[in-house]
Amino acid sequence: MSKNSHLGHQAKKRFGQNFLHNDAIISQIVDAINPEPNENLIEIGPGLGALTEPVIERAGDISVVELDRDLAHRLRHHPFLAKHLTIYEQDALKFDFASLATDDKPLRIFGNLPYNISTPLIFHLLSFKDKVKDMHFMLQKEVVERMASGHNCKAFGRLSIMTQYQCQVMPVMEIGPEAFMPPPKVDSAIVRLIPHKTIKNPVKDLKALNHVCLTAFNQRRKTIRNSFKKLIPVEQLIALDLDPTLRPENLALDDYIKLANYITDNPV
Ligand code: SAM
Repeated sequence: MSKNSHLGHQAKKRFGQNFLHNDAIISQIVDAINPEPNENLIEIGPGLGALTEPVIERAGDISVVELDRDLAHRLRHHPFLAKHLTIYEQDALKFDFASLATDDKPLRIFGNLPYNISTPLIFHLLSFKDKVKDMHFMLQKEVVERMASGHNCKAFGRLSIMTQYQCQVMPVMEIGPEAFMPPPKVDSAIVRLIPHKTIKNPVKDLKALNHVCLTAFNQRRKTIRNSFKKLIPVEQLIALDLDPTLRPENLALDDYIKLANYITDNPV
């Protein structure tokens, strides 16, 4: 049997399959999620059920979104899991998570995410934040560092700004490659995201915030005078109290909010 086979399933690289197999670590992750009965729990990428089974034992029935048809088939025929799962054999990147939310039951989304699509998947999930109570994800450690980073750090960028604007970001624990089968080449970490109920300093247009982030961090070594040349005249940067000689990572989240509101009010 190949070294990439786990519980009789050949791990598929294209689906980012690295299966958790260490019971102690699985139980720490489930403790961090803290699933309870009668909640609206949704797992992305249940795979062979490493997290699914202990979550069901604590919470009862849950929904899962799994793209690999072999794994979805296994889950449908699993003697214990099948009767507790609603299985969506779909691409989580295109899945309408809002369709599973109800007014009295906001979503609790969790998963050991496929690392090859984790950033676009996080952005997709953030678009449902109004329906979400919390999210717990296993990600590449470096991605969690980028999400949680403050300004003046190398890791600070669009992912930090867009996530922190919308959620409280709490790194929970780090996990080494040996906890997975096959082991990934990178370290991993669990992060908890809790969408803000109200945003203290809201942007007029979230797309504008994304746009200023893309413009700034596309060439993060440029000064903001140069990176924003086509969007915002240097006098306006100064009027917004921003030093034009700074680099994108030196501006704080509130500065990006100011810039986003400026381009909303003054489209080029
Ligand atoms: N939860 C399992 C575990 O922890 O052992 C498997 C985690 S594995 C890192 C990622 C899982 O996501 C796999 O089951 C994979 O098939 C699934 N997956 C990959 N791409 C997906 C997508 N676009 N939508 C939904 N599931 C996906």
